[in-house]
Amino acid sequence: MANILILGGGFAGLVAAERLAHSTGPEHQITLVAPNRNFTFYPALVELAFGETESDSITFDLREKLDLLDVRFIQGELLRVNRSAQTAEITGDDMKGDLNYDIVVFAMGRRLATEKVSGFFEYSHHLLGVNAAKKFGDAVNNFKTGDIVLGVCPGGRLPVPVCETAFALARRFEAEIEAGTVTIKVIFPESLAAAFGGAAIHNQLEAAFAKHKINVLYDVPIIEITADEVISSEKHHIKHDLLMLVPPFRGQAIVRDLGITNEEDFVKVNDRMEVHGMDMAYAAGDLVAFSGPKFAHMAVRQAEVAAANILSELKGETPSQAYYHEIATVIDAGGPESIYLHYGVWDDNIYRIRQGSFWGWAKEVHDRVWRARHR
Ligand SMILES: Cc1cc2nc3c(=O)[nH]c(=O)nc-3n(C[C@H](O)[C@H](O)[C@H](O)COP(=O)(O)OP(=O)(O)OC[C@H]3O[C@@H](n4cnc5c(N)ncnc54)[C@H](O)[C@@H]3O)c2cc1C
Repeated sequence: MANILILGGGFAGLVAAERLAHSTGPEHQITLVAPNRNFTFYPALVELAFGETESDSITFDLREKLDLLDVRFIQGELLRVNRSAQTAEITGDDMKGDLNYDIVVFAMGRRLATEKVSGFFEYSHHLLGVNAAKKFGDAVNNFKTGDIVLGVCPGGRLPVPVCETAFALARRFEAEIEAGTVTIKVIFPESLAAAFGGAAIHNQLEAAFAKHKINVLYDVPIIEITADEVISSEKHHIKHDLLMLVPPFRGQAIVRDLGITNEEDFVKVNDRMEVHGMDMAYAAGDLVAFSGPKFAHMAVRQAEVAAANILSELKGETPSQAYYHEIATVIDAGGPESIYLHYGVWDDNIYRIRQGSFWGWAKEVHDRVWRARHR
């Protein structure tokens, strides 16, 4: 019998638990630890901010879901891992103390390093949570005239919701933009290709922005935000009346002392999702130190690979499933400018880009089906 401990209840943790529960017998104990009892379907947070969905439709109860799978759920937070004793210290509503494990899966997602940009907390909205998205939605509803600024801070590896928010706002304020009383700017810390892991998406995306009179600025590494300006290390001063930014991402400092992280606290893994230099340890999702943007579909595929390799270990076989780092995403522009991008980040071997209303619809259907199948 093996104790498999999954730390984190987001896309990576949930999918790892599902795959393992479906393929192992009752002789193995699977435990998932997460501080929050709710699973949040982050890709729908833009819709939530714009009142197109309800929070109940995009969250569900993890404990109920995991009960059905015979996976033990512990509401709690990892404090530290003792690798020689193979224990994880947990604190939370369900327990305070050490859990033993034979195999551990790190799936705790990213940390929002808002402290890296002075003034972020005070003056910027973000979309990385149900409450934050609702608060931004309220600010949009109260907004009448002025300059809207949306963007990504250095290290904020999430360009899609920024683009989708810009298109949603351009639809909402179409008349005001035409009349010149509202402007929308989108800012990136580097090039558009850098934001999308090297993929050439600028022709389609820039044309879509231009059609909706959205201005795009590149090479604006934000270092400071004041009540009315966004300031970059390149001396840009950009006025804002409504501001929504993706903050810098970092991994989780609580695993730093295990010697498994890079300089930004992301966990180093090989393509089998095995943690570098730590036996019987896997990692998946936003927490891993792979290059490029971070997407839910990557977290899901990484979790599937980790689960397949754990199953091999349980059978005494050598783990052999390999993960391929690719982007497969849709930027829903709410009409014919919607873009589908499929791109191989590591080797450029895959590059497909399509455009049309179909892709926005396909994303909506895909997301609904995903939520229905996993809740
Ligand atoms: C607004 C928005 C829009 C997005 N749009 C898209 C999109 O269109 N397409 C797409 O593919 N991706 C999209 N993403 C990205 C996607 O949501 C992430 O890539 C995905 O959530 C990563 O999954 P994860 O499991 O690694 O992390 P998360 O989903 O963040 O889950 C991390 C889990 O770890 C838990 N945790 C944290 N700390 C601890 C601890 N100390 N101990 C135990 N548990 C802990 C958390 O509570 C949570 O349960 C979007 C994200 C946002 C915010």
